[in-house]
Amino acid sequence: MSEATLSTEERHTGALVLTELVPEELASRVGIDISDARRLLSQIYRHGDLPAVCPATIRRAALDRVRSEGSVPTFETIDRAASEVDPFVKYAFRVEGGGVIETVRIPLEHAGRFSVCVSSQVGCALACTFCATGKLGLSRNLMTWEIVEQVRKVRAELPAGARVHGVVFQGMGEPLSNVDRVIRAVRVLSDPACLAIDRRNITVCTSGLPAGIRRLGKEIPGVRLGLSIADARPNRRRSLMPIDEASPLETVLEAAGEFTERSGYAPMFAYTLIRGINDGADAAHALADTAIAFASRYGARPRISLVPMNPIEGSDFQRPDAETITAFRDVLGGRGLGAVLRYSGGGDVNAACGQLARSGDARTSRGRARTASSPSSSPSTSALVDPRERAG
Ligand code: SF4
Repeated sequence: MSEATLSTEERHTGALVLTELVPEELASRVGIDISDARRLLSQIYRHGDLPAVCPATIRRAALDRVRSEGSVPTFETIDRAASEVDPFVKYAFRVEGGGVIETVRIPLEHAGRFSVCVSSQVGCALACTFCATGKLGLSRNLMTWEIVEQVRKVRAELPAGARVHGVVFQGMGEPLSNVDRVIRAVRVLSDPACLAIDRRNITVCTSGLPAGIRRLGKEIPGVRLGLSIADARPNRRRSLMPIDEASPLETVLEAAGEFTERSGYAPMFAYTLIRGINDGADAAHALADTAIAFASRYGARPRISLVPMNPIEGSDFQRPDAETITAFRDVLGGRGLGAVLRYSGGGDVNAACGQLARSGDARTSRGRARTASSPSSSPSTSALVDPRERAG
């Protein structure tokens, strides 16, 4: 294989990065049998690396070839903060170039099952006003293996019997600004020989980039889509999400409609509720109008996920009080729309929606509860719900 045919990420440490490949790619690139490729990748995801001793089920020559041409890179865990109020855990990893990314382990309702909220970029260029990551600016896109590695790292320290059930692209960065690598990562995450995560449990959450949304529907069927609405009133949305100027909600919804027609699944509408900004009856009716219009045009009703604003440094935005949130939901309910109020955990370690924001050594983690070297069990997971749904 010529070096010139390798992409940037595949040239990591001069070797083929094995955690970027599905079995068919490994077999054709290294020139080994597909069954050996599958078994070798399974070994990597089961045991962390290539086997030291060749198992009887794998040809020795195949292992030697893969070992000589491939590598399984990793990065350093520089912090692990377990919430004291819920079983969320936030990880900080140092990546090449000195940047830091954050990943959150999310307990699901079913005990022993977790979702992993992954980052797709170091920082983010889109500057949504309700998001701490947006205040960092963009350093770079993550490589495919760096996305996969976040899940491997979290999985490696799960308690015995626990498993990663889902992945949500909802950490640092706009996934569809790094869409090639996100698509590659989803293929690896979902391949039975790799991490074997059902694509129906993988959600790509976006602030709304139409071209990327269309590619998700075409290239990784089965994956779920989350859209950050923030406010369904155009001028209000633009003031909260600058990307709305280049990609107005209307064009985002058209792309989401194509995604729905292709996949059969409506997107999840993520709505960050901000006190005095988008939490009134007018805003609720505008959201209802948008969801109802989408359902009537595309034949599938979006799920609505309400996420009360989590406090971030440098922002005066606050979460509405309980009465206001109830009134907002009642408006939606009166229009025939159910809305899930998402529990967004890990707030005491800044692991909650919108709070991920580390850049290099600049730590913004207020009130970090504790750093544990071993995983905590999740005694109260039954109180919790499925992945956080702040899109973006
Ligand atoms: S919400 Fe998502 S897209 Fe918006 S600034 Fe934050 S990370 Fe970027």
